[in-house]
Amino acid sequence: NKTDPVAIVAPAARPADAHKKVDTKAIQALDAKHYMHAFTDTKSLGQVGARVIVKGQGIYIWDSEGKRLLDGMSGLWCMNVGYGRTTIADAVHAQMQELPYYNSFFQTTNVPAVQLAAKLVEISPAHFNHVFFAGSGSEGNDTNLRLIRRYWDLKGAKERNIIISRENAYHGSTIAGASLGGMSGMHDQQIGVTIPNIVHIGQPYYVEGGKGKTPEEFGLVAAGWLEQKILEVGAERVAAFIAEPVQGAGGVIIPPSTYWPEIQRICDKYGILLVADEVICGFGRLGTWFGSDYFGIKPDLITFAKGVTSGYIPMGGVLVGDRVADVLIEHGGDFNHGFTYSGHPVAAAAALENIRIIQEEKLIEKVHNETGPYLAKKFGELNDHPLVSIAETCGFVAGLNLVKKKGPTLHECEAFDSSLEVGMICRGHMFGNGMIMRAVGDRMIIAPPLVTTVEQIDEMVGLIRFCLDATLEDLK
Ligand code: PLP
Repeated sequence: NKTDPVAIVAPAARPADAHKKVDTKAIQALDAKHYMHAFTDTKSLGQVGARVIVKGQGIYIWDSEGKRLLDGMSGLWCMNVGYGRTTIADAVHAQMQELPYYNSFFQTTNVPAVQLAAKLVEISPAHFNHVFFAGSGSEGNDTNLRLIRRYWDLKGAKERNIIISRENAYHGSTIAGASLGGMSGMHDQQIGVTIPNIVHIGQPYYVEGGKGKTPEEFGLVAAGWLEQKILEVGAERVAAFIAEPVQGAGGVIIPPSTYWPEIQRICDKYGILLVADEVICGFGRLGTWFGSDYFGIKPDLITFAKGVTSGYIPMGGVLVGDRVADVLIEHGGDFNHGFTYSGHPVAAAAALENIRIIQEEKLIEKVHNETGPYLAKKFGELNDHPLVSIAETCGFVAGLNLVKKKGPTLHECEAFDSSLEVGMICRGHMFGNGMIMRAVGDRMIIAPPLVTTVEQIDEMVGLIRFCLDATLEDLK
């Protein structure tokens, strides 16, 4: 009783009519029957069919019913240059015709991968001169784990094998990614499978932990948890600390200004490697090439993915700083690590064109000087909404907290009972009204494409306010 999957999609229609060629119900039924989605209860797909996305242009996407949605999440934090870039499609097409694939094992290479490595070195902080390519952010963090272990082994310090990460961090979905990450929901489902010697400290979440302190005071307290953990496990045992400059999937946790300088000081004091997971923050998200530039830190390793190709073709990897690269290259011989798709020429061609667009259209300068500050102003105006205890931005990421009752200060607001799932109610209104905004508990977050204009920011914040009002109505 197998369905012919091709039969339910009509032959090519014009892009503007993309939805018309899709029989939504048939695709949803087939989807529920065969497709196990990421982070989804597959059983539920049988009751409520998945939303079928058929087209994207600029900052908007369309579903198979012809409904337009403003993509406030840039897909999954990746669509930095926006949808519908024909020059990326052209670059991919040309590369596929020239050389669709070759590997970079055993002393072979390809032209786009070499050019991309050089380009990444050019745009990254000065002490980065080498790149290791992977297929995703998770593979990038697997690579980090192997680089870190190898580095300390070559340094004659095998006992330095503990990595410190943070609660609620997201570092990917492979075993290494999930183990490095601090998502309890992921750890709970993998009993006994998480990698040993990875420990976690609290996140610098002022709303949660900052009561009675200024943000600056709290930033120092939260950074101090790293030093406490180092002393607890033994400084001579600690290999590295890994963190996202701004924690993304954990709820856009924007650290106080004192946090990162203190983290850097502590890493330097104990000689431990600092790994910045820039899978979200990289490629302009904060109005700088990397989050490390934004916070003025000097990591030894940078994980990248997503924005490197704006999601047009999968790619990830690690920027390897001189401290690690010098030891591995000088003393390491063969590094027995790599992926079939490391340095994939088509992905590299997409990345090169994506970076060219970012540079030519001055997207990072725009976010830094114009649209980022405008988003901060407009999104900040949501602070006056009766449901919102705080609305804050950092470059082109933003988050707001929904509360039952506002108080005289941030820490005197009354939270909703979590069983009410107010964030999900709000997210439902967003979807219903053509806006994609994510809910992490009762914190609502966005990370719009870097091409979003001031007019589109007005539209986006207007939609958010409308949906906050609708949520408030629902709760009455
Ligand atoms: N690291 C961070 C900070 C991420 O946000 C993600 C994905 O959201 C990853 C790593 C994993 O990347 P991927 O899904 O490409 O494996």
